[in-house]
Amino acid sequence: MTARDGREPVITIDGPAGAGKSTVGQRLAERLGYRFIDTGAMYRALALSVDAAGLSPDDDEARLRAHVARVDVRLEGGRLFLDGRDVTTEIRTPRISELTSRLTRLTAVREKITPLQRRAAALGGVVLEGRDTGTVVCPDAEVKFYLDATLDERARRRQAELRAQGVEADLAIVREEISRRDIQDTTRALAPLRKPDGAIEVDTSALTIDEVVERMLGEIVRRQRGGRRTATPRAGRR
Ligand code: C5P
Repeated sequence: MTARDGREPVITIDGPAGAGKSTVGQRLAERLGYRFIDTGAMYRALALSVDAAGLSPDDDEARLRAHVARVDVRLEGGRLFLDGRDVTTEIRTPRISELTSRLTRLTAVREKITPLQRRAAALGGVVLEGRDTGTVVCPDAEVKFYLDATLDERARRRQAELRAQGVEADLAIVREEISRRDIQDTTRALAPLRKPDGAIEVDTSALTIDEVVERMLGEIVRRQRGGRRTATPRAGRR
């Protein structure tokens, strides 16, 4: 499959927190030899800078707009840089998760980040992962996925992720936090989380990461049977 203008395809993956988008998106990009864009990480970096500046989502939007206009957010080689500083690890705290979810409701914030994501996707050969990549950022993407899983399973995964970072979190609290973010992400007026038109839905609740990746690769290959050239998966890493 090539896109209309001969570039490599754009693949989007949307879905709620904890559906497995990041892990799966990274593996998928590796297998295809594509770049991987974690769009949530870009919003998280912006949230970190807002927090460090002593601002909050409840502040006057003009003030926030003036602040975000000055901020430099860059995704390079899988690392996230905020004004030149590597903040890849720093952005993964529950505080920043919560703040990001509230900030991403604001026009000033989305108007800052969406064009950066579109520019990064413009050359093709890219996997984008987030909440609005197939609906708003790249609605014309060649292949769109929507990943989901039950709230209980997503909470268990997030807890395990935190544990791997040395953070012990109560499952009920993690579940509550994810549920709150689901509500914020799906009910906001601007770019709400929803299944994009034409997206392939994958319920990852009972699947391993490898199974999800294989299923997605299968779908991508199936789409190439339209007779056009497409992405060629590399041999799997087991
Ligand atoms: O995916 P991640 O948990 O890192 O995203 C953090 C927050 O950023 C989400 O809760 C969501 O509110 C927001 N987000 C967004 N649009 C995206 C990606 C993330 O609004 N494309």
